[in-house]
Amino acid sequence: MERVFNFSAGPATLPVEVLEQASKDMLNYNGCGMSVMEMSHRSSEYGAIHAAAKESLRSLLNLDEDHEVLFLQGGASLQFTMIPMNLLSDGQSASYVISGSWAKKAYKEAAMLYPVKAIASSEEDNFNYFPNLEQSAKDSVYTYVCVNNTIYGTRLSPERLASINGTVVADMSSNILSEVYDVNRCGLVFAGAQKNLGPSGVTVVIVKKDLLKKEKGELPTMLDYKIHLEKDSMFNTPPCYSIYICGLVMDWVKKMGGVEAMEARNREKAALLYETIDNSALFKNNIPAADRSLTNVVFLTGDKDLDGDFVAGAKAKGLYNVKGHRSVGGMRASLYNAMDISGVKALVNYMKEFEVQRG
Ligand SMILES: *Cc1c(COP(=O)(O)O)cnc(C)c1O
Repeated sequence: MERVFNFSAGPATLPVEVLEQASKDMLNYNGCGMSVMEMSHRSSEYGAIHAAAKESLRSLLNLDEDHEVLFLQGGASLQFTMIPMNLLSDGQSASYVISGSWAKKAYKEAAMLYPVKAIASSEEDNFNYFPNLEQSAKDSVYTYVCVNNTIYGTRLSPERLASINGTVVADMSSNILSEVYDVNRCGLVFAGAQKNLGPSGVTVVIVKKDLLKKEKGELPTMLDYKIHLEKDSMFNTPPCYSIYICGLVMDWVKKMGGVEAMEARNREKAALLYETIDNSALFKNNIPAADRSLTNVVFLTGDKDLDGDFVAGAKAKGLYNVKGHRSVGGMRASLYNAMDISGVKALVNYMKEFEVQRG
């Protein structure tokens, strides 16, 4: 079977060049006589992979000296707990913007530990827009936002993110390196790798050092950012192979021209799909233009059976995983960095064909 166009929301498509490089390295990485999976994490070969991946992320995001990069496990979901644990103390609170179910989960986890506040929500409208956040609570240590809502296809623009007062904590799992955001402006940014950065198993956390005010010993060791920072994400065995693949993906992003070039590519891909939807009498997307995600595009016909037929027909054409999340229905095409425009062209051609036949 040939490779398909994989529109999965995550784990998601990876650049073919990266997979080819990984396959070349599989049995014998760089003349070491073993694969990256078999190496000691204390070896100099792995040490170089680890350092290079970190450096690539720093340079791609133009990180300043105040921000540190961590490679952690437990998925983006563990960050829902680690963030309030590390950043809040007794008597303190934080503001949460409930823009989708990932943000809601983050809020629920934080609320188990500290009296955090939900300051805005679009839940009543099934999260089909990014809520307004002008009313950020004054006594908050941080304001939490999920920048790209993977399930609902909405995102907070770089301009709106930059305009939030005070310390921002941002979940960028599904749009890190896809669009230029001022990460230095944020106190903490995190991303599970399996959407736009690499395979599952590693979560990138970028944190401003001076936010970590707790003393050593106040937190369980594995949940303490300070420990991981001190040990350069090697307090215990890191997810070496996932970090190695992330490194290859970031090398590929650099070769393609960096985040600005990725954004230009992603804008072109998203524009092609949104134009097709907006010009269609069959498909629709009801998200305000300014809130539309570049990486997760949702659309539907309004008829469940027709949506099902569309998804099945897409698969027959090698367009995989275009079914929408169960809480939204319809379709969702994830257009992460590794999705080539040829995949989007194939998808819109199929949409037009489908509309002629079934519209
Ligand atoms: C997928 C996703 C998560 C959860 O990631 P895990 O690594 O599975 O815990 C959190 N936030 C966003 C925005 C996501 O897309």
